[in-house]
Amino acid sequence: RESAEISLKDIDNLARSSFPLCMRHLYEKLKEDHHLKHGGRMQLGLFLKGVGLKLDDALAFWRAEFSQKVGAERFEKEYAYNIRHNYGREGKRVDYTPFSCQKVISSTPGVGDHHGCPFRHFSEENLRAALGRMGVGNRGMDDIIDKVQNRHYQVACTLTFEAVHGSTCDAGINHPNQYFIDSQKILQS
Ligand code: SF4
Repeated sequence: RESAEISLKDIDNLARSSFPLCMRHLYEKLKEDHHLKHGGRMQLGLFLKGVGLKLDDALAFWRAEFSQKVGAERFEKEYAYNIRHNYGREGKRVDYTPFSCQKVISSTPGVGDHHGCPFRHFSEENLRAALGRMGVGNRGMDDIIDKVQNRHYQVACTLTFEAVHGSTCDAGINHPNQYFIDSQKILQS
């Protein structure tokens, strides 16, 4: 299901309120480093497309960060093509779909990569710290870590959603864009 259009100026607030941890992490790293490697650009870029960021805003969004690191010229030469490509405006003109949890969880981030699912790919220490920053309290935290240790990553994400929103998520989380849509439904009601 398509969600409404979002604009550039809303992304910061939406990242804090409604992005699942996998996308929050990428977003924060992008802001911090003004750069993401290919896997991260794909995972976050397609997610943002799915939440309703239009191509022009997507280009402006990535340009604002990357030009601080590599310069505007290199951004246009090396990165803008891929963004247009994700929106089906280049190459085979396939309209690429955002990654499901299954796909994100089964990815294999290497050194310096920030994509993947934090519930699967973070150390316990980093995961606890990240969950704390999302506002998960001590009791919820232990339940989430317990699910992670049993390799139930999506259940851990669902419990995180419930802890952060103070509301149940009966369907369970199976797609980062579903997390976003369900979050917005609760916050806007
Ligand atoms: Fe993202 Fe899905 Fe992992 Fe949650 S379970 S952090 S939505 S990949």
